[in-house]
Amino acid sequence: MPMTTYTMDVFKNATYTSLADAMLPHTQNTYWHEFNEISKYNVQLNYFEKLWAAWYLFIGNDVLATGIMSFLMHEFVYFGRSLPWMIIDRIPSMNKYKIQNQKVPSAKEQWDCAKLVLLSHFTVELPQIWLFHPLAQYFGLGTTVPFPTIFTMAYQIAIFFVLEDAWHYWSHRALHWGPLYKNIHKIHHQYSAPFGLAAEYASPIEVMILGLGSVGPPILWCAITKDLHILTMYIWIVLRLFQAIDAHSGYDFPWSLHKFLPFWAGADHHDTHHEKFIGNYSSSFRWWDYALDTESGPEATKRRREKKLAQARKAQ
Ligand SMILES: [Zn+2]
Ligand SMILES: [Zn+2]
Repeated sequence: MPMTTYTMDVFKNATYTSLADAMLPHTQNTYWHEFNEISKYNVQLNYFEKLWAAWYLFIGNDVLATGIMSFLMHEFVYFGRSLPWMIIDRIPSMNKYKIQNQKVPSAKEQWDCAKLVLLSHFTVELPQIWLFHPLAQYFGLGTTVPFPTIFTMAYQIAIFFVLEDAWHYWSHRALHWGPLYKNIHKIHHQYSAPFGLAAEYASPIEVMILGLGSVGPPILWCAITKDLHILTMYIWIVLRLFQAIDAHSGYDFPWSLHKFLPFWAGADHHDTHHEKFIGNYSSSFRWWDYALDTESGPEATKRRREKKLAQARKAQ
């Protein structure tokens, strides 16, 4: 097993497998005491790196430290990102940007959805989030400071986006096969006009299958290259949550990302999937649906009809 080495000035003569190991048995210091100690002896670290290192020292157990931080981050980002969409739903002037503008979710609908999502977060996602750390650490996941460079994080996250999208396309397409749809995926399709909070409104089995697309590629990457930092993983998960929630928002603006990046899927792509129940299976990008002719919506239908007509003309 590869060692994640960390040598702090205060522990000059020793190399530890992790920050927490360096401090075990854990002292009963406060978080800010740890932060001040780190600041004193590690002037080369930036503020965020010091906050990070102090958290691991303060908790004194890497699995616990990552588990708590990951779960809280997921909740904070999920509900934090959904909230602006709930507010926008209540602003009449925003209605012109709503894709299915006759179907604004009621407060009760949103509350019912939030309850199921919360239940699933605590029962299905919490154990998975907890398991991620020991599993990834086994493959050499880095949790220490200093952090990787922006460039390293950016190209790794770009790879995760592409791989997740491919996994999502195929497994989501499979979930639309009769028996799987009836037993698993139907729950997610309860809302034919989606809203931000509905992004993770799904059967626990679906959460596990599709969640594998977000967690699997980083673990695989870590196992092959031995070069992944948990901060990269966090940024990836945050961006993926933003993508999923925004895709379910139900709003398409003139300034939406796919207007500038034509291959970006966005809300326009996934809203149509919920409305038509067929086609547009991918998550972040449009290339899989385009290449395999599974695009949904009036434009795709028109294109298909034109293609057929052209073929018929040619055959005559
Ligand atoms: Zn679906
Ligand atoms: Zn959906």
